[in-house]
This record gives sequence, structure tokens and C-alpha cells, in this order.
Amino acid sequence: MKKNDFYLIGGIILFVFIGFLFMIIFRTEGSQVLITIDGKEHKTFNLNEDTRYEILHDGERNVLEIKDGYVRMIEASCPDKLCVKHRGIHYDNESITCLPNRVVLRVIGGEESDLDAIAN
Ligand SMILES: [Zn+2]
Repeated sequence: MKKNDFYLIGGIILFVFIGFLFMIIFRTEGSQVLITIDGKEHKTFNLNEDTRYEILHDGERNVLEIKDGYVRMIEASCPDKLCVKHRGIHYDNESITCLPNRVVLRVIGGEESDLDAIAN
């Protein structure tokens, strides 16, 4: 391999790396998680505060956990447990749905809620 080829490949790797970095930085991170039960807004939590919350609804139970900026369902009374298997969510508009219990966790308010915070 010639020295110039080496620089070229190094340059391409650097370029891809920088592009990747930009993608991560500018991807909108949600700031809150909205809990919806039966299509109705139930409660919101900030993603930057670690917490656990039990959702009790029609005798069904879901437990969500917010940790390190990610929210996930850690327990559920539903038969399929799809919501529990779902990975933690973090980015704007990502959601975890528990269809049998009609519970939805959705990440909301990237930049918008920041503006709201300033306005308040
Ligand atoms: Zn479920």
C-alpha cells in the first residue's frame, strides 16, 4: 500500500466517523415520556429523572422504569409481554405499546418542550 492510499483511507474513515457523530448529536432526543391509557393522557415523566411508576388500570398492571434517560416497561400483567420485551426508548416519538392493557408509553417533546420550559 502506498502512503497516499493510506491517507485516503484514513480520510474516508474520519469523514464517516464525523458524519456518524453529527447524526447522533442532531438526532432529537425526547425529554419526556407520556403515558396514555385507553387513548387518554394519563401522566408525563421527565426522562432525566430516574423513577419507577406503576400503572393500574382495569385490574391490569404495568410498571415502567426510567433509568439513564431511557424508559422501558419492566413488568406487565398482559399475556404477550411484548411491551416488557421491547428495548428501552429514548428518542422523540418512539413508543412502547401494551396492546392488551391499552397502555402506551411515548417519548415526546424534544425541542418543543425546551421552548415551553423557557416560556414558563
Ligand atoms: Zn404488555
